[in-house]
Amino acid sequence: EGMAPAPRILFPPEKICMEWQQQQAAGAGLCNPGNMCYLNSVLQCLTYTPPLANYLLSGEHRQSCPQQGFCMMCIMEGHVIRALCSSGSDLVPLTVIRSLNRIGEHFELGMQEDAHDFLRCTVEAMQSACLSGCSDLDTSSQSTTIVHQIFGGFLRSRVTCLSCSAVSDSYETFLDVSLEIEATSSVTAALEDFVKPEQLDGENCFRCHSCDKMVAASKRLTVQCLPMVLTLCLKRFQYLTGQKISKV
Ligand SMILES: [Zn+2]
Ligand SMILES: [Zn+2]
Repeated sequence: EGMAPAPRILFPPEKICMEWQQQQAAGAGLCNPGNMCYLNSVLQCLTYTPPLANYLLSGEHRQSCPQQGFCMMCIMEGHVIRALCSSGSDLVPLTVIRSLNRIGEHFELGMQEDAHDFLRCTVEAMQSACLSGCSDLDTSSQSTTIVHQIFGGFLRSRVTCLSCSAVSDSYETFLDVSLEIEATSSVTAALEDFVKPEQLDGENCFRCHSCDKMVAASKRLTVQCLPMVLTLCLKRFQYLTGQKISKV
């Protein structure tokens, strides 16, 4: 509904498997050489995401990788194979640590960084790696990489004119959803807040094309297309005080 199909499919959706394709024992634990808990926790989440791990374990990426130099998919493939084949031991994810400032140039070795920020940059770097060699692709075809099919979805923003009821829709891709949790008691309630209509008026008035003037309107975000794996980020820091919200 409302969205054109992608002209080009980069990764066949039927090849993505949500269940583990091989029986997996828990892989290696990750050592923390200093302020690396944000990085280790994100790597562990990605390592145990079956559709991503299945693909990386197959070794298929590296066989056909066109990249010279830095490639986040090659790095993740190497890490996941090593971690899942080292059951009962521990390791330092050196290849990832060495590429820290290629993953995000603002990350500094040895500094405490934000896990959500690191996840965002890592998934985006994997997405860029999947798009290497097809730079002038339309947005909708870009969302057919394996990474985007697993983690990406589409949000619809619908603005309804309160004078004439005309609707105006726009779509954007997302790789995760950030939820305000300060005033909510559960993830479900936070998701309900996320899709709650918001009134646009006063300084935030909306230009309605049917009325041809600035009008009060109602704006509502909804999830148009769900990803296979939905990533939720609970916003646990208060902007004003910088305090951590301790509810989990
Ligand atoms: Zn690669
Ligand atoms: Zn109107």
